[in-house]
Amino acid sequence: MPATGRNYIIAGAGIAGMTLALALAKFGANILVLERSPHMHEFGAGLQISPNARHCLDRLGLSAALDAVSLEPEALDLYPQGSQSTPMSMELGAIMRERFGAPYAVMHRADLADLLYKACRRFANIDILFGVRHWDVVSHARGVTVAIDEADGQSRTSRAHAFIGADGVHSPTRRGMLAGPEAHFGNRIAWRALVPLDLVSGQIAPDRVSVFFGAGFHLVCYPLPSRRQANLALFMPAATQEPQGQPRPSGTGARAGAILTAAGSGWTPWPLFTVETSIWHRSNIGLIGDAAHAMVPFQAQGAAMGIEDATILAPLLVETKGAEDAFARYAALRQARVKRVAALSAQNGRIFHLPWPLSLARDATISAQGPRAHLRRLNWIYDYKADAIS
Ligand SMILES: Cc1cc2nc3c(=O)[nH]c(=O)nc-3n(C[C@H](O)[C@H](O)[C@H](O)COP(=O)(O)OP(=O)(O)OC[C@H]3O[C@@H](n4cnc5c(N)ncnc54)[C@H](O)[C@@H]3O)c2cc1C
Repeated sequence: MPATGRNYIIAGAGIAGMTLALALAKFGANILVLERSPHMHEFGAGLQISPNARHCLDRLGLSAALDAVSLEPEALDLYPQGSQSTPMSMELGAIMRERFGAPYAVMHRADLADLLYKACRRFANIDILFGVRHWDVVSHARGVTVAIDEADGQSRTSRAHAFIGADGVHSPTRRGMLAGPEAHFGNRIAWRALVPLDLVSGQIAPDRVSVFFGAGFHLVCYPLPSRRQANLALFMPAATQEPQGQPRPSGTGARAGAILTAAGSGWTPWPLFTVETSIWHRSNIGLIGDAAHAMVPFQAQGAAMGIEDATILAPLLVETKGAEDAFARYAALRQARVKRVAALSAQNGRIFHLPWPLSLARDATISAQGPRAHLRRLNWIYDYKADAIS
């Protein structure tokens, strides 16, 4: 029987942290989430949520809320460099539900964060503290003791069975509590923009994800119909984490060029960092999400991995006597998969940006594979049922 009534403290009310809070709350645990930001904030832009992640969120009772804010694209269209021609398509839509029991959907990240937050608020056993200034954790035989400096200058000390760092790519838990590595900047920037859907309706289909390849860049676009916006993400090399001005890719072709023009000077740079470490826990302190394994977003799986982490870690924490043993089991179950997904994401980054004429070989291979090849090739990602892993 699960040991209900235990206390857990999570650093970070991001996607991974709130998913873990919900998963633990379902077992009757008491959860305190420490969030550095003063309130839930609209950050980032679009997010693709694949069936493996959606399966976990559905199990938390979030299906209807997700359906209300997301689009299930019919396909992912890949446009060769500079091309006006028919794209290469990968089928999504109904086939994803049929094959994997959950949809492939796109949404705004803030909508996902908002519905997770609202779900947390419905649990009396989840408390989220915003604007936390500082915290310090001491691990001991009976769990952890956490000293917390709150937004209003008050301090408190809380005890818990375990402390989980879901505090993102620059995780203070990883660097400070586990003496883990700094995040690595891989000299790439994601330039993000949201534009009114009408402005790009001539360039991108209303029911599809459109990806434009170029030499040294690629552009991902999809509609967010519930917001009447299109999400644009342009990935380019960069010498510095803080590029000046606006992105100027060359050789875009007319269609991608028109999309870039529609965004005007609305691009926000987002430097891409990765984290590689096998140290995911020490004693009663552990890591989930980007804090443990931030990866480049070229397979659209970073948030999905954090959601899977939370789904697997929650039952282990409540069912295992000692938190350290639960973390060790969780790391053993997760690390090979996360490493494989991160490696595929990095490989995609190289393939997506191949220069001509190597790009011709890439495009010919994708065309020859046909619109359903990804269902087999990525079956190991999408058909993973985290709630059945233990
Ligand atoms: C351009 C781009 C596109 C992406 N697209 C996709 C996609 O389509 N699909 C997908 O699955 N993934 C995608 N990702 C990856 C995804 O965004 C991340 O993997 C995911 O957001 C990580 O979630 P997290 O909860 O681990 O971390 P975060 O979302 O970073 O949350 C961490 C939280 O911790 C808080 N925090 C930080 N420090 C402290 C502290 N000291 N104390 C308390 N709180 C603290 C932060 O304020 C934040 O709320 C993309 C990433 C990028 C950059």
